[in-house]
Amino acid sequence: MITRFAPSPTGLLHLGHAYSALTVWQVARDLGGIALLRIEDTDSTRCRAEFEAAIYEDLRWLGLDWPAPVWRQSDHLADYARALDRLADRGLLYPCACSRSAIKAAGARPGWDGLVYPGTCRSRPLDDARPGDALRLDLAKALAQAGPLPAFTETGPLHMGSHQAEPDELIAMIGDPVLRRKETGDPAYHLACPLDDAAQGMTHVVRGADLWHATFLHVVMQTLMGWPVPIYHHHDLVRDDTGKRLAKIDASKALASYRAEGATPADIRAMVGF
Ligand code: GLU
Repeated sequence: MITRFAPSPTGLLHLGHAYSALTVWQVARDLGGIALLRIEDTDSTRCRAEFEAAIYEDLRWLGLDWPAPVWRQSDHLADYARALDRLADRGLLYPCACSRSAIKAAGARPGWDGLVYPGTCRSRPLDDARPGDALRLDLAKALAQAGPLPAFTETGPLHMGSHQAEPDELIAMIGDPVLRRKETGDPAYHLACPLDDAAQGMTHVVRGADLWHATFLHVVMQTLMGWPVPIYHHHDLVRDDTGKRLAKIDASKALASYRAEGATPADIRAMVGF
């Protein structure tokens, strides 16, 4: 059993991350497996070395440990580029220059994760790509090539059971995702994450419930690319209201700030209900 904690070094870890990390290591322990740390640093405009260093420090302080070497996505850019080439060869990618405001102006409807791309650039051929264009996956075409989607198993408390994506619903609620980001050409999360989960041999993906809907797209990517579909476990999020289970806490306050104020790792565990 292999699972992972996969933070992005775009800021300091906060209590929500602590809860997520503790859950990852707990599930690994319960199932007699191992927890890996993966640094999801593909966003070249927002990721910073000092935040990566702070991730190591905060997790060690919490008493968590992981095997070396740590998988950093910025060390694997060639792998993501190769995957994009494979998708391009299959005619599944198209260039897109649409801005957020253009997408809004085109009458895009809300989906599971913001506005659903209305397909403005879908008929543009790849040879027509200009520097700075994003690359999007033609989801309807991808689903047709992928064939029947497998059901996936969810073991988290909120959606426990077996789930099968409905292609028409995915098209309506996700639309054509960006797999290579505009301007920077950085690989997008929905490409890098499922690729790495396969490359690292993840049997279980443990992460926050905010990524529940992303899983449906990740199963499409896995089916399309011939990658195995892991077991998923989406945990509830730490909330900073007076939640049912958790005491009143500031979920977005940095762990480093709590530490500077004298909190102990045991205090943090207690605050997030461990
Ligand atoms: N890097 C993502 C984040 O920090 C998590 C990705 C995942 O666990 O799949 O939200």
